[in-house]
Amino acid sequence: MTDYPFFGHIIDNEEVESLDGKRFDTINPWTREKWAEVAEASAADAERAIASARKAFDEGPWPRMGRTERAKLIHKLADLMEEHADELARLDSTDMAKPFAQAKHDVARSVWNFRFFADHQRDHVGEVMPMDSGHHTYTEYGPAGVVAAISPWNFPLMMATWKIAPAIAWGNTCIIKPAEDTPASVVMLGRLAIDAGFPPGVLNVLNGYGVPAGSSLTGDPRVDRVTFTGESGTGRIIMSAAAQNLTPVSLELGGKGANIVFEDAELDNAVYWAVESIFRNAGQVCLAGSRLFVQAGIYEEFLARFKQAAEKLVIGDPFDPATQFSSLASEEHFRKVKSYVDSVEDEGGKILTGGLAEDGAWLVRPTIITDLPLTASQYCQEIFGPVVVVNKFETEAEVVHLANDTAYGLNAMLFTENLSRAHRVSANLKAGTVWVNCFFIRDLRTPFGGVGDSGVGREGGNFSREFFTEPKAVVMQI
Ligand code: NAD
Repeated sequence: MTDYPFFGHIIDNEEVESLDGKRFDTINPWTREKWAEVAEASAADAERAIASARKAFDEGPWPRMGRTERAKLIHKLADLMEEHADELARLDSTDMAKPFAQAKHDVARSVWNFRFFADHQRDHVGEVMPMDSGHHTYTEYGPAGVVAAISPWNFPLMMATWKIAPAIAWGNTCIIKPAEDTPASVVMLGRLAIDAGFPPGVLNVLNGYGVPAGSSLTGDPRVDRVTFTGESGTGRIIMSAAAQNLTPVSLELGGKGANIVFEDAELDNAVYWAVESIFRNAGQVCLAGSRLFVQAGIYEEFLARFKQAAEKLVIGDPFDPATQFSSLASEEHFRKVKSYVDSVEDEGGKILTGGLAEDGAWLVRPTIITDLPLTASQYCQEIFGPVVVVNKFETEAEVVHLANDTAYGLNAMLFTENLSRAHRVSANLKAGTVWVNCFFIRDLRTPFGGVGDSGVGREGGNFSREFFTEPKAVVMQI
């Protein structure tokens, strides 16, 4: 019998089994073999985690601690993450076949999430507003309470820390429920938080499936905030569960990003980012540029260069340093992406390059589709894989209409050397983020979130502060 590594729940600063001893397997999608076992929560385990976070908030030191002291502990956790960066990255690479160099990049971003919010809560304490009437008003941002954070599998550590960091920095206590496909790095984060000296109950990790682990958190009246990243359909279920208790939600959901290349774009740059935006992380990115629009005058040239660049990507073992592209994160997800690729020709499109790998791997090659009707499922729905649909356009007005003609509105990219057009088109795009001549660059002070089916609310900088605190106005007659 093989002894597999085990990842338990972290509750009250202890790593524990489920009360009923239940575990599930976690699979390495590159080898397609089980590599670890994970505690599988029932509602009773969720109850333990909520009770721990509640007690830590109501009675523990964390919300009452000075801001500098709290920042110090969070920076200490960030230091430990840096010390263990290779190990954290290895866990994400093993759990989801993310190329190791990309996983290392995600760890660095996760560290920055903590460092940024540790400092932000210390420096953005509130505002003072002397009133014309002679009264004196000031604002206070007190912690909201217990935060339930539910994260997806595509950036396991980065997405989880994007939620945990502002939640705890603002003095809340937190229960994170990582995606069942990729729990390992978040459990390790919980272990590091214990080593950093976090008080018990501040950061609990609950492993398991959406139902019952996640749903036990989102429907519980002792939870004060729910922050969720995942599919739009799951977002709807979570919002309605939280609504029963009037619990505020922040939802970061799916996307179908438009990537627009105008004739005057700097082509090398546009090709580089077109590849990055749909093939990095094997296209399993909410922000992916999955609908590519290229202006007629450069269509043939751009497509030829884009195809060549896509075919040059090195596909292979996530731990080979040369690898840029690897398997999809799970068999279930592979089957979903495969079904979209299998039906391209039936829906009237052509596969210019890519398609399925033939050796039984859970791998879809970088895939470029052309000539597809705008009603096809591959064009309308989020595939969440390395599959891009390319369309030709003539005018600015036409492409703005096309880009906005979707239920989603997370982000868009545009490539042009015309500054006026860059401003004009950015203003007219229905999207939470617009990148001009670039992609994926983030300043953590800015709002992040989506329009329509892409989400509810914004996080980042002061936007995270508004969500994770109870802002209060104090008005004094002096
Ligand atoms: P998912 O919705 O299937 O699962 C996300 C998380 O929700 C998992 O932890 C899952 O266990 C949990 N969950 C499932 N059902 C639940 C329920 N009823 N109650 C509570 N929790 C439940 O999403 P996924 O497949 O893990 O992730 C991919 C999706 O995430 C894509 O749609 C992608 O666009 C989106 N995403 C969005 C962003 C963003 O910032 N907008 C970032 C990354 C991923």
